[in-house]
Amino acid sequence: MNNKGYVMSLASFFLILPAFLLLMVLVDLSTNEAQTQEATLNSHEVLGVATDLETNLPFIGREVIRDKSLEVVNSGIPLSNSRKEVKEEFQNRMDKYCSKYADKGVFVECIILKVDNSYDPFCVEVKSKITVEKGTLKHNVNLTQNISLTNGSFPIYDPLPFVKCRGHGGATINEERISYGSSLANYLQSRGIKNYEAYENATSPLSIKKCPYDPYILHGNTNELVNLKNCIDNGFYHESNDGACFLCRMEGKGICSHYGMETFIIPAPTISPCMNNSSTAPSSVDHVIFNDTGHGTYSGHPILYFSSENHYFSLYLDNSHRQKYGVPIF
Ligand SMILES: [Zn+2]
Ligand SMILES: [Zn+2]
Repeated sequence: MNNKGYVMSLASFFLILPAFLLLMVLVDLSTNEAQTQEATLNSHEVLGVATDLETNLPFIGREVIRDKSLEVVNSGIPLSNSRKEVKEEFQNRMDKYCSKYADKGVFVECIILKVDNSYDPFCVEVKSKITVEKGTLKHNVNLTQNISLTNGSFPIYDPLPFVKCRGHGGATINEERISYGSSLANYLQSRGIKNYEAYENATSPLSIKKCPYDPYILHGNTNELVNLKNCIDNGFYHESNDGACFLCRMEGKGICSHYGMETFIIPAPTISPCMNNSSTAPSSVDHVIFNDTGHGTYSGHPILYFSSENHYFSLYLDNSHRQKYGVPIF
């Protein structure tokens, strides 16, 4: 009897054992599943934050470039090291931006490694390192992005004329253009440039816009110089080996070693076609007028590009720029 009972309980033990084992596996499985689910949620969140940062970086960077260049526009005082100053302010704003994730238990860090020229003179390149961390998950990514000077919800102003004309009466903003009054003529006179009077009441574009008349010889390929007139009226900028890049413009440099840009500075219209073709004045390209590093300001012959009633619109161009823009060589 006792023996039988012993056999029975042993048998029932072996019968129950698989059920126990199964239960243990099931419990283990479900905790594993919960952990896997949590990890999946974390990875979704981490990657979402990384994407959010990647999307917003160029917008925040563009605001920094606008604000830094506006400081120069308003004060006329150039930045001493634009790459460094833009990078530092960019870092401040990214620190603020990243701190908003702390409440959600996500560690986010964005280090701005470098702000420098892009291969495209109408962009500024930024290199950054993003780290997003939650739970055991850590996501690192290095980014190289372009910040557009031309495309965005607000324009970016050219700071260079405001630096050059400071102390000579100052340049002012008049709608979409820069009005020089007497300041540009004063600036040129102070450098001993001949025929500086030609730039009394001159104007030039205010914000950086990329010229669509590309190849540039299209400017001169119509008899009436209609493309050149439209380019001037719209205030476009052109790619240029000699013209200063945007970051150097913030430092008040009229020329630099980087691949840069150039625009036209337009003399005030005259009431008679007074300029005979043998008259000359500084060539109306901004890097020629603002090159005060030596004998960089050379002269050009006038081109009449538009007239209406008693108003004659001309600019001066040297032969190499005439060639660049497809305008007849003098
Ligand atoms: Zn153009
Ligand atoms: Zn430069």
